[in-house]
Amino acid sequence: PPTQPHYLADRQSTDPPLLAEIVLDRPMNQPYTYIVPEALASAIEVGKRVEVPFGRGDKRETGYVIRVLRDHPIREVKSIERVVDNEALLTESLLKITRWMADYYVCGWGQVLQAVLPAGVRSQAGIKKNVHVESIPESELPNPLPELTKKQRNIVDLLRSECRDYEIKEFARIASCGVPMLQNLIKLGMIHRTLKEAEKVDYDFGEEAVAPKAIVMNPDQEKVWARIRENLTAGGFKAMLLHGVTGSGKTEIYLQAIQHVLDSGKEVIVLVPEISLTPQTIQRFRGRCGNVAVMHSHLTDSERGAHWRKIAGGGVQVVVGARSAVFAPTRQLGMIIIDEEHESSFKQESTPRYHARDVAVMRAKLENVPILLGSATPALESWNNAQRGNYELLSLPNRVMDLPMPKVKIIDLRHEPKSKGKHFAISPTLEEAMRKALTAGGQVMLFLNRRGFSTHIHCPGCGYVANCQHCDLALTFHQQRSTLLCHYCGYEQAPLNECPSCKQPSVRYQGLGTEKLQAEIEEKFPSKVVQRMDSDTMTRPGSHQVVLDAFREGGIHILIGTQMIAKGLDFPNVTLVGVINADASLHLPDFRAAERTFQLLAQVAGRSGRGDKGGSVLIQTYTPEHPSIRLATQHDFIQFASLELKHRLEHSYPPYFRLARIVIRSLKQDSAEKHATQLSLAFKRVLENPQVRQPGSKFRILGPAEAPIFKLNDQYRYHFQIQSDSSQYLHQVLHHALALVKPTSGVEVQIDIDPQSM
Ligand code: ADP
Ligand code: ZN
Repeated sequence: PPTQPHYLADRQSTDPPLLAEIVLDRPMNQPYTYIVPEALASAIEVGKRVEVPFGRGDKRETGYVIRVLRDHPIREVKSIERVVDNEALLTESLLKITRWMADYYVCGWGQVLQAVLPAGVRSQAGIKKNVHVESIPESELPNPLPELTKKQRNIVDLLRSECRDYEIKEFARIASCGVPMLQNLIKLGMIHRTLKEAEKVDYDFGEEAVAPKAIVMNPDQEKVWARIRENLTAGGFKAMLLHGVTGSGKTEIYLQAIQHVLDSGKEVIVLVPEISLTPQTIQRFRGRCGNVAVMHSHLTDSERGAHWRKIAGGGVQVVVGARSAVFAPTRQLGMIIIDEEHESSFKQESTPRYHARDVAVMRAKLENVPILLGSATPALESWNNAQRGNYELLSLPNRVMDLPMPKVKIIDLRHEPKSKGKHFAISPTLEEAMRKALTAGGQVMLFLNRRGFSTHIHCPGCGYVANCQHCDLALTFHQQRSTLLCHYCGYEQAPLNECPSCKQPSVRYQGLGTEKLQAEIEEKFPSKVVQRMDSDTMTRPGSHQVVLDAFREGGIHILIGTQMIAKGLDFPNVTLVGVINADASLHLPDFRAAERTFQLLAQVAGRSGRGDKGGSVLIQTYTPEHPSIRLATQHDFIQFASLELKHRLEHSYPPYFRLARIVIRSLKQDSAEKHATQLSLAFKRVLENPQVRQPGSKFRILGPAEAPIFKLNDQYRYHFQIQSDSSQYLHQVLHHALALVKPTSGVEVQIDIDPQSM
């Protein structure tokens, strides 16, 4: 029998009661209906959290109120027990966007809400609670009254005569007694203790703004800005794609647009990749845009909470942040801007697996405001949208101030002279160019997207390869830490001197990482200061900035780095950028490999020649004829995009087809395999079901197959890839099939809509 108070509709004799629809943190979409008891009627509000009984026994769960209404419930419902929040945490627009996300990304609404609200908001971190004292009405005093001293009686009387509450220390001063005396009276039941929020925790929301640099827009910028201004003035939803080469003045355009929106009293959200949230960038926004809140991953929970509340309270005009800033609780959003919109870091790789760009476009639609996407190498999805007229295309084809694009040259490694015996990372041509650049007083950046020393440790005698015990991945040798490391799960073991398999002392350490590159460069350029920047050397917060400042001041001659140095950095004295291995990202088992390679090369190349000394870029490759590499040297995104789009169409890939990826994983291989087989049968049945079938739409399922990395973190993984030219059909089939087979315990099903990596 149920243990909670129930309500059953009696349609004839009662007025409809107050109900609330509650979403719980579960992988389901439907809200639950609860009764709102009279005592909570004034506190209940959409966007607040409540505690409700759930399931059997006395289990309690916290959920979000998404609707309050008066109606007769159609079945027995339980009552809400407590309202958790004093103020609504979620705004109307966040409820709308999260609802859409739950449907689109096939996960629970509550799961999305949970992910959207920063932990610091949920825990109310950063809100300091003060202890207050207040008097107790005569009738509620303990009976019989406890024995009190005269002093104690005076204090109780004093508090009553004041007719208000006091912070405990303050009242102790007023009553000239100690806090312990008040605490004792609380214990005796003679006065009340309450907690009151005091948002006294002050955060530094930003340093003093620097005076804005006056900029006169060039004719290209004027043209682009005129279009944006027109769209802003017209109002309503409008998506624009700003395609502009690196250094073409895109950020200036953003700043103009922001100013315009702020002048109309509205707010702007600016999304940038986490990696671009450098003090340099932040200063630029702070200097020009009034009250800027910056949301980055180094914030503590309470800082994040404080930002959130300040934004929700209307105290922020511009929110600049990475992925999750798309959920900023603005009050009067006027525009959204996304810089480097092609960046894969906008995709969240855990549930809900959303893409911040796509969420932003949807949010702009729901809130009926314009959105501006900017990039030197737009994602092909966005480019295609612009080609088809869904987005308005705006272009900045040239660098500002007539600065030329850097000269990019290819070094064909097949034809470079080989040094006897030893294999070097940099070719003689690159070495020569570095010497020239350094002699002329320039600085050099070398890009290699692999950290560690050796990336392939094997025994030529028996063929043994050092792999992670928990993943199907090769271990990387890190010389400084003297360890073999799995870059996925962090597993570590001691370096090998002999082969564990055949016991021969012939283990080879091959494959190039940044650590080995650094050793080689230091050997070849003993008089130069060389610095490496990767996640091994940049472990402390702030260490980035130390290195970048030193580089800017010329204290470092050669900067070696992974993707950390590929993006956004603006160092006018860099006259040579070397790409050590352009092919590395080309051969990944991913249909986006060509696109990613082009983007990366374009970004890296953009680091060179940003000052008046000009600059060049040298790309080492074994496949110079590959379009990603050839067209990157010509800075020809448009040609690349048109070639690559043809290829995508031929192979039914995005943007022409929608993709979903389903991964089934378990510590037990047979459990995972079994579920994959069952799901496969479920798909067959659904596709044969005439009620689901959509004759005009194309649909293809690949799999189940072993995932490219079969074992990860001890879990065995099978996957499906689903392709359809209709997003709606794809979702329908997914919904039906997933409802047919529930995974057994220990089996996890992970759904990725619009996956960014395969
Ligand atoms: P992007 O964002 O496209 O890389 P930025 O907006 O950062 O380009 O511009 C590159 C540099 O040129 C910045 O230092 C910026 O201040 C400067 N700049 C931009 N527009 C102009 C202009 N019209 N005149 C002079 N300098 C400009
Ligand atoms: Zn591992």
